[in-house]
Amino acid sequence: MSTQPQLLLLDPVAELIRRAAEVGYPHEVCGLVVRTSSGALEVRLAPNMELAHPERGFVLDPRAIVESEARGEHLLAIFHSHPDASAELSDADQRAAVIPWRDGPRPAYPGVVLLVVAVSAARAGESRVYAFAPERARFVESPLAVQK
Ligand SMILES: [Zn+2]
Repeated sequence: MSTQPQLLLLDPVAELIRRAAEVGYPHEVCGLVVRTSSGALEVRLAPNMELAHPERGFVLDPRAIVESEARGEHLLAIFHSHPDASAELSDADQRAAVIPWRDGPRPAYPGVVLLVVAVSAARAGESRVYAFAPERARFVESPLAVQK
């Protein structure tokens, strides 16, 4: 098991994500947690391209990932918020995070975890981290999930 989710527990990172979720409420916000070439952890908020119903869905602008890779950054996590809902990963979230493969779904970004933060009345609540479980062909909650 990778230790990546533990990195998300670092206060500045978790706090930046929570703040972004609160500021973006009642829309879902999304973004990346990356390690820069100098070794620093950075939170990169990305536009939510889900324009029809941004309060109950997100589409992360893929340019955010392309630009991050171009800067030589290492993608650790993709985060998004759930306004007025739990931090449970939805079926749509599961589908969006994988690509179909001959022998079953595979993660679109191998080794990258998903972080979901619940937001209620513009206040960030519980956060959960999900990692891809090859034997179940889906993302499952990581035992290293963030507790808040
Ligand atoms: Zn979601």
